[in-house]
Amino acid sequence: MSKILSQLIEALASGKVEVVDLTQPLGPDTPVIELPAIFGSSPGVTMEVISQYDDRGPAWYWNTLRLGEHTGTHFDAPVHWITGRDLPDNTCDTIPAGRLVGPACVIDVTEDVERNPDFLLSAERIREWESDHGKIPKGSWVLLRTGWSKRTTAEAFLNVADDGPHSPGFHANASRLLAEQRDVLGVGVETVGTDAGQAGGFDPPFPNHHTMHGAGKFGLASLCNLDRLPATGAVVLAAPLKIVDGSGSPLRVLALVESGE
Ligand code: MN
Repeated sequence: MSKILSQLIEALASGKVEVVDLTQPLGPDTPVIELPAIFGSSPGVTMEVISQYDDRGPAWYWNTLRLGEHTGTHFDAPVHWITGRDLPDNTCDTIPAGRLVGPACVIDVTEDVERNPDFLLSAERIREWESDHGKIPKGSWVLLRTGWSKRTTAEAFLNVADDGPHSPGFHANASRLLAEQRDVLGVGVETVGTDAGQAGGFDPPFPNHHTMHGAGKFGLASLCNLDRLPATGAVVLAAPLKIVDGSGSPLRVLALVESGE
């Protein structure tokens, strides 16, 4: 076995490297994004028992799941957006597995979001982060830490007012910087989607989806435990189900973190 992997196995066994779960529980209570009524809507999670050690299957328990691809902690593939529609390897089943693992850059804007739930990460703010932590490496996951996952009720999490949802996201210039100049794998957020709550009214609408998926990049939504990650140094594994022609998928997102970091 290679030295690197045997060292990793040893570090996992000793606790020197810890596995941090960035995933929210997935079930009937999982909040789902609400779109204006003119658009198709994604159903919440339903689970139906096939058998549970009963007449239908005396020794086994299993369920049928029904849910939208973009439910709970989930992955956005480039084909999810019209800008990524014609790109190669743009669906859940065709993305090369090597593109699902990368270093994490965690940008903490929790205090800004406490003051303003509509806070947008700007390119300028990313450059400030880079002056402290170094340039975001090519092939990184950029994770926006907002504290939003601490909102445990659906009402607080979706935060919908008369004028639509209010939740943080990315300024268009931030998405362009990350996609075009940093060549990241994608971005991850604690909110229900990778655009701000008000982003349907931006130009272009939903600029993060528009730019990231148009550049073949990915999205991760409804993450949690970002406060357990260092600003740099963690490795994130985010592998969607291999759904044929899938636009996205619920997934388990795991981070490897050196303890004491
Ligand atoms: Mn999505």
